[in-house]
Amino acid sequence: MKRFITKELYKNDKKTYFTTTLLKWDKETNQRKMPWKGEKDPYKIWLSEIILQQTRVEQGWAYYEKFLKTFPTVQKLSKAKDEKVFKMWEGLGYYSRCKNLLTTARTITNKYKGNFPTKYEEIVGLKGVGPYTAAAIASFAYNLPYAVLDGNVMRVLSRYFGINIAVDTSEGKKRFQEIANDCMAADKAGLYNQSIMDFGATVCKPLQPICQECPLQKNCVAFNNDTISQLPYKEKKISKKERWFYFLVIDFNNKVYVRKRIEKDVWQNLFEYVSIEISSPEDVTSFLKSSLYKRVMGKQKGELIVISRWYKQQLSHQTIHGRFLTIKVKNPILSLTDFLLLNKRSVKKIPFPRLINSWHEDGNKDNVLF
Ligand code: SF4
Repeated sequence: MKRFITKELYKNDKKTYFTTTLLKWDKETNQRKMPWKGEKDPYKIWLSEIILQQTRVEQGWAYYEKFLKTFPTVQKLSKAKDEKVFKMWEGLGYYSRCKNLLTTARTITNKYKGNFPTKYEEIVGLKGVGPYTAAAIASFAYNLPYAVLDGNVMRVLSRYFGINIAVDTSEGKKRFQEIANDCMAADKAGLYNQSIMDFGATVCKPLQPICQECPLQKNCVAFNNDTISQLPYKEKKISKKERWFYFLVIDFNNKVYVRKRIEKDVWQNLFEYVSIEISSPEDVTSFLKSSLYKRVMGKQKGELIVISRWYKQQLSHQTIHGRFLTIKVKNPILSLTDFLLLNKRSVKKIPFPRLINSWHEDGNKDNVLF
């Protein structure tokens, strides 16, 4: 695809029109409601931004309120037990972000004596806070002139100015950051950032943007050149990996074996039952004959109680499929040295990945009997 950004397209009056129209749209038309909108408390802004990295606004809203109710200040969050916070995070995914949330809360409490840093450089230095979140905090809380840049913002800019530099390359991100900085109303940084975020989410949407009601339409290059579907331009295609797991829910004396996943892989820091990864979705009969299964069970036969259907969880770069086998054993399993044996009440208190929770939520209702 040929690049079609030119100096002529990206000229000053076009920028001015973009910025003033966006602010006018925000004042007169924008009705997007969010509990943290207009918020000046950097702790609340930070919390909302970290939660929103994970999820849609509708879902994130409930998490935000729950977190704020339990941890009304950064100090309270910093003193919380890891497991309690992980449990509350359950359903949001990307647990490394939850871990960073705790690390940052503790850094603010210890290094900054409980006061959220006020300089952009300090904010962006906090664990788990990237340039986007730092710009949002700096501009919303302190009105500092830092422009936010994410997929929404790049989409709006690429379409309006007709820029087809690839948004998924470092060169593209750098160029879009320059344009975003250029377009920002420096004296209304918070308002401007909020406007472009809302505009990207509600008007210039990824699919079916509402061009007929768009106040930028007359100057929008993509609209006028009929290139909306080609923008923003991406160079790389994401290939998704498929993975299959059997989860053995091994019941010994009404307790089950669980362990914390510590490997640098999906679901780090979350708990799981005995998991065995297989290369393809093999049926239960073949799986029970496999050396992988026998290696876990040793000499024990075990009584197979229930077989679940296949469950699926979509992650950003992989699709995980999981099937649960509930097995009763009469003796402890010797191979499971790094596992805990927990009763049901304790199991309910620990955080699991969404895929395992989907099976918990089904309450074994739809499991397929062997
Ligand atoms: S006219 Fe359409 S494509 Fe252009 S900025 Fe507006 S909503 Fe986006």
